Amino acid sequence: PTLPETLSRTTQKYPDREAVVYPRKDVRLTYAEFDERVDRFANALRDRGVEPGDRVSLLLHNSAEFAVALFGLLRAGAVFNPINYRLAPSEVAYILDDSESTTLLFEAETRETVENGRDEFSTVEDYVYVDDDVEDAPEYAAGFHDLLENADAGAPSVTVEPTDQYAIMYTSGTTGRPKGVVHSHRDATYHNMLYAGQMGLDFTDVGISAMPLYHNAELNCGLLARINLGAKTVILHDFDPRRTLEVVDEERATHLFVASRIWRQLLETSRDLDSFDGASLELGVYGAAPMPPSLLEECIETFTEDYATAYGMTEMGPCATFILPFEVREHIESVGRAAPNHEVRIVEPTEDEDPNDPVGPEDTVETGETGEIILQGPPMMEEYWNAPEKTADAIRDGWFFTGDAGYLDEDGYLFLVDRIDDMIISGGENIYPTDVENVLYRHDGVVEVAVIGEDDEDWGERVVAYVVPDGELTANELDEFCRESDDLAAFKRPRGYEFRDELPRNPSGKIQKYRLREED
Ligand code: ATP
Ligand code: MG
Repeated sequence: PTLPETLSRTTQKYPDREAVVYPRKDVRLTYAEFDERVDRFANALRDRGVEPGDRVSLLLHNSAEFAVALFGLLRAGAVFNPINYRLAPSEVAYILDDSESTTLLFEAETRETVENGRDEFSTVEDYVYVDDDVEDAPEYAAGFHDLLENADAGAPSVTVEPTDQYAIMYTSGTTGRPKGVVHSHRDATYHNMLYAGQMGLDFTDVGISAMPLYHNAELNCGLLARINLGAKTVILHDFDPRRTLEVVDEERATHLFVASRIWRQLLETSRDLDSFDGASLELGVYGAAPMPPSLLEECIETFTEDYATAYGMTEMGPCATFILPFEVREHIESVGRAAPNHEVRIVEPTEDEDPNDPVGPEDTVETGETGEIILQGPPMMEEYWNAPEKTADAIRDGWFFTGDAGYLDEDGYLFLVDRIDDMIISGGENIYPTDVENVLYRHDGVVEVAVIGEDDEDWGERVVAYVVPDGELTANELDEFCRESDDLAAFKRPRGYEFRDELPRNPSGKIQKYRLREED
């Protein structure tokens, strides 16, 4: 089916069950009410000239309007392009331009970005302002609520096929410029039921969209899965640990998916919030980074018994491996085993391969050996938008080459090591920066460290560590520390140290090593 069809079917079954709750504006919409708003927005877009296949971009925080706009534009046959609201005007311009987006929805908080970037938004013909129920829309934009009120409430007559594009979603830009990932409706409906099945969700579940909906984790695993099931989504505008916990109790939430570091914040906040009960929570999901075992134990004590995690990327829709509640304690260091109908392999990292070369068993490294993680599964992206060379490089013989380094154990559990691009080849030896960083992190004076390879005439590359120090710290001190460590082979020892006040990060907080390499 298509995503709008999943909504129509749910509405038919559960018209009076609540679909979307948005506490910030006191909005509670049943499926029938949500569905009607979706029709209205779809008609409004059609009236404004949006044609099937046109790209409509959202520069929005989470909100009820976000959900209505998303399903409305899909019902109008348009393609969804979510943009991270933290991006600078020129970064937004890049995405709008690359996706050739014609309509942009924005809000009070992103108005400044739009006003500073508008001259560069060359493809955008139409602006829609979603906070027109709070303040006047700027003169160059239509008001979202105004459009809803004046649009026709009947279903628009647009045919959307499951194989049609559903979204162009841009990657986080950790390893370079964000890439536009194209997914079909079929990818998204397949993936959201995969996630729901793995997590054991059904129509009685209440989930909280606490993480941003512009990112495919919360969107494809959270909102879209719950709409398909007839479950309820409570939408939080912005992440706030206290509000999240209050809402868990107020709405009797059963399911919460947040990044590992956010679980720590929730834990700390729960200690100051005497009234917090949390009895409704059935499943906690973490992701994006490893969960320290002690943190997991504390979360089990405070929130709920069951936790799960996943690994994947925008290109896979996103989850390709899972750790389920029954195995989380024994396998907390792993990111899981292949999802149903998925396959994971580890191959020798290679460059400039012919994309038509078959990927055979001879390419696979030994169990336990580190190499590039490659994945196969039905919700894999169609292509990178406007970038056939990147697509050919990433999808070879039906496998997605993740650019992540990792290894598998005998039982098929996957362990992440690094990004392949970050791997350093020095004197013919492969060096994974994480091995070096883990040793340096044990030094009390190291707040943060990123290890990269810099060009070297004799060795190909030399290992260099960028360190954010806590107070006084010298290269000699760190070199001595590495020499004394039993965990670092001599060839992996940094040959240079650079001290910095901070390291470059993408908007979701991942360190951008490519920027350090560019500085070099
Ligand atoms: P870009 O592709 O633009 O460089 P990105 O790869 O960071 O950015 P995303 O698709 O948002 O963009 O992130 C996917 C990446 O996140 C994976 O390739 C992997 O490196 C990392 N990742 C995914 N799941 C986990 C996890 N459970 N633990 C640690 N890292 C993870
Ligand atoms: Mg990536």
